[in-house]
Amino acid sequence: MQVSKVGVIGAGTMGSGIAQVFAVAGYKVLMMDIKQEFIDRGMNTIRKSLERMRTKGAITQEKESAALYNLKTALSLDELKDVDFVVEAATEDKKLKLDIFTKLDNLCKPGVILSSNTSSISITEIAAVTKRPSKIIGMHFMNPVPVMKLVEIVRGLVTDDETVNVVKELCVKLEKTPVLVNDYPGFVANRILLPMINEAIYSLMEGVATKEAIDEVMKLGMNHPMGPLALADLIGLDVCLAILNVLHDGLGDPKYRPCPLLKKMVSAGHLGRKTGQGFYTYNK
Ligand code: NAD
Repeated sequence: MQVSKVGVIGAGTMGSGIAQVFAVAGYKVLMMDIKQEFIDRGMNTIRKSLERMRTKGAITQEKESAALYNLKTALSLDELKDVDFVVEAATEDKKLKLDIFTKLDNLCKPGVILSSNTSSISITEIAAVTKRPSKIIGMHFMNPVPVMKLVEIVRGLVTDDETVNVVKELCVKLEKTPVLVNDYPGFVANRILLPMINEAIYSLMEGVATKEAIDEVMKLGMNHPMGPLALADLIGLDVCLAILNVLHDGLGDPKYRPCPLLKKMVSAGHLGRKTGQGFYTYNK
C-alpha cells in the first residue's frame, strides 16, 4: 500500500518528534492527542525544533513551511480513519495501548500497518487484540527523534515480511537507520541499556563510588557521551523502573531485579530531570 497520509497518536515527547520527521519528509500527518493543551504543547515543540534546524542550516525556509503545512491535528481517533499508516506513541500503559489498537483495527482500512513506538510492551500481545496481527509492528524511535538515527524495528511473532519491508523503507525515507529485532522483553536497546543503568545505581547504593565518579568512569573509560546516572535522570527514573520490571517479569531472571535505591527514589517522586531532582538536581 502506498503511504501518503500518516496518523500519529500522542503529541508528547515522542509523538511530536515522530510527527515532525514524517512532515519534513513530505508525508501528510495527522497528530492526535486527547486534549487541546497537549496538541498545543506538541505543536510548539515542533515549531521550535524546526526553527532551530533552519537556523543551523539543516533545513531551508521552504522545507520548514512545507513541514508545517503537512501537519494537521486531531482530538479524536475517529479522524484517523483514512490514514495509510499509523505510529502510536501514547503513554506507556498496556491497557491503554491495547484499547487504542482495538479501536484502530476497527477504524482503519484493511491492510493499513499499525505500528507502536512502545519501549517495552510486547508487539505480539498488541497484535493479538487486532484482526490484522501480521500488520502490527514496533517502530521504536529514539529520543530526541529529529536527531537520533536509529529506529529499532520490532517484529512480532506473526508480523509478515511485507510489513517489515514497508517500515524499513519508510525509515530510510525519514533519513533514519532501521535495525530489525525480534519481540522479546526490552527488545535490544533497553535490554542492554537498562541493566547497565541498574548496575550503576547498585554501585552508588553500595558506596562503590560517588555518582560523579561512576558517571566519569563510564564517560572517559567507555567513551559514552553521558554517564549512566545522568542518562537515567534524562530518561526518567519512573520509566527506568517500569522497563526493568518488564525485563524482570518477562524474562524471569533475578539479574534484572530493579535496584532498591531506584525504587525508593521513584517512591519519593525524584524522577530525574522532569521533576528537577534525580541523581542530580536540575533547575526546572
Ligand atoms: P509523553 O508522556 O511525553 O506523551 C504521551 C502522550 O500520549 C501525552 O501527550 C498523552 O496525553 C497522550 N495520550 C495518552 N492517552 C492517549 C490516547 N488515548 N490517545 C492519544 N493520546 C494519548 O510520553 P513519551 O515519552 O512521548 O512516550 C510515548 C511512547 O514512546 C511510550 O510508549 C514510550 O514508551 C515510548 N518511548 C519513549 C521514549 C522516551 O525517551 N521518552 C523513547 C522511546 C520510546
